[in-house]
Amino acid sequence: MSLPEQSPRARQDTRLDTWAGRYAARTHGTTASAVRSLFEVANRPEVVSLAGGMPNIADLPLDVIADNLAAMIGKEGPRAMQYGSGQGEPALREAITEVMRLEGIHAHRDDVTVTVGSQQGLDLITRIFCDPGDVVLAEAPSYVGALGTFRSYQTDVVHVAMDEHGLQPEALREALVGLQVAGRRVKFLYTIPNFQNPAGVTQPLERREEILEVAREHGLMVVEDNPYGLLSFSGEPIPAMRSLDADNVLYLGSFSKTFSPGMRVGWVLAPHAVREKLVLAQESATLCPPTFSQFAVTTYLTTCDWQGQVVSFRDMYRIRRDAMLEGLAEFMPAGTTWTRPDGGFFVWLTLPEGLDSQAMLPRAITSRVAYVPGSAFFADGFGARHVRVSYCYPPPDRIREGCRRLGEVLHRELDL
Ligand code: PMP
Repeated sequence: MSLPEQSPRARQDTRLDTWAGRYAARTHGTTASAVRSLFEVANRPEVVSLAGGMPNIADLPLDVIADNLAAMIGKEGPRAMQYGSGQGEPALREAITEVMRLEGIHAHRDDVTVTVGSQQGLDLITRIFCDPGDVVLAEAPSYVGALGTFRSYQTDVVHVAMDEHGLQPEALREALVGLQVAGRRVKFLYTIPNFQNPAGVTQPLERREEILEVAREHGLMVVEDNPYGLLSFSGEPIPAMRSLDADNVLYLGSFSKTFSPGMRVGWVLAPHAVREKLVLAQESATLCPPTFSQFAVTTYLTTCDWQGQVVSFRDMYRIRRDAMLEGLAEFMPAGTTWTRPDGGFFVWLTLPEGLDSQAMLPRAITSRVAYVPGSAFFADGFGARHVRVSYCYPPPDRIREGCRRLGEVLHRELDL
């Protein structure tokens, strides 16, 4: 059998990677981020990294968790180490309904599907709803991991403008009308209403209601991604969008920020019919989500003061947020603006006109400070004047020092 003729581009790719002609089209848009190699340097101890989004779990009570896990293994070992249900363990799904109640969601455990982090929830939702060329609406900017998933299913992401209260309902309406005129198939709106990653902004209750109203008018499904909701510095969670519209919202939750990202346990709450498809997709992806992690999370939720631990995470992140806002106020050059998050991990900077955060990154790293360039959070190459800085991981004095170094870099860029 003879192979089809290769284009010059494909021939060049084949020299670099002998498998190049064989990958599925869905892999073509998935490239390693240009900043990945710089981040290896950014992880050196002399660099203050304001780039990562790793939860700071240093004060989890590991001794207590270890004892409780040992007791769980003694009692439930054979079940915890066996295959389980594709939908997830019933006891965990029950506990998840109680977690969601804290944000006003009343749901039945049968409508919960456990996933390998909410990242897998995003993957399964995109898998069951999107064909190549379908449109997914997302905030401008949006979570880089979701954009990667949407790209891997060959969807087109159309961004919708935000302000300091999150996604703008009018901009959503305009986008929907424009896409309808263009004959495009829009599959869902992906939104992060609380302490958005990367922008740090939160939709107030009225804004959520307006967005849901526009969505209903246009028959648009909403995918609400809420990993940070319980990390509210005021301690007062705003009702989840799902609590305002049970028919039209798919809800994604996660234990990564309230307990442990290494457990890789998240979930999707979806109407009955969708849940059937999700479970089938979950079974074909993993057979079942990891049973041991699910038992471990259930044990943690039922034997530790997990809500008390969330309060202490919140307090720790609030102190770091304050250190960052103070550092930015002291060291940023005139013309730089930034958001003021009420929870979560991230601040979004807008740089003075003419600066390019991607081009500046190698110089920032030479000055021993790292951040994520804004363009990572757009599907369409925008974002050059923006920077995401995170305050979740470094201690407050390092955050301040990071802001000082970043301020120096920006002043130098402006003098160039
Ligand atoms: N959504 C958002 C907005 C996130 O910030 C993250 C993690 N950075 C995820 C989803 C994925 O989280 P996980 O898979 O750990 O639950």
